[in-house]
Amino acid sequence: MATIFSRIISGEIPCYRIAENEKFFAFLDINPLAKGHVLVVPKKETDYLFDLGDSDLSEIMVFAKRIARAIEKAVPCKRIGVAVIGLEVPHAHIHLVPLNSMDDINFSNPKLKLPPEEMEAIASAIRKYLV
Ligand code: 5GP
Repeated sequence: MATIFSRIISGEIPCYRIAENEKFFAFLDINPLAKGHVLVVPKKETDYLFDLGDSDLSEIMVFAKRIARAIEKAVPCKRIGVAVIGLEVPHAHIHLVPLNSMDDINFSNPKLKLPPEEMEAIASAIRKYLV
């Protein structure tokens, strides 16, 4: 059965899309730790990030870098934190989280629930800065 992220990538389940190329897809985390929290995923289903082949692993980081640069411009923050957890969804993904303090990337924190208009405004602001 397809993972929830494959169903998002195929368009079956809606998301706030940021960017994609032939191999990777980026979209807002539905329950962000901070405004502008983005997930970057390979289109090919792989549970564990470190099971990706060497070139896909390198390429997903380069793809994530481009997204991180856009988040930095769109969301007030000191830098973008990077995390790999993967305990909830068995489809490899990189969390990109705007940071102003160490606590902003504490996955034990309560997640935000933002209204759809605000999620779309954040996604649109990030997309605007993609180069
Ligand atoms: P992890 O597997 O790294 O522990 O966490 C999975 C992440 O995916 C969580 O931060 C969660 O909020 C996010 N997530 C789970 N289901 C969905 C979904 O249907 N849509 C989006 N956009 N994010 C999701």
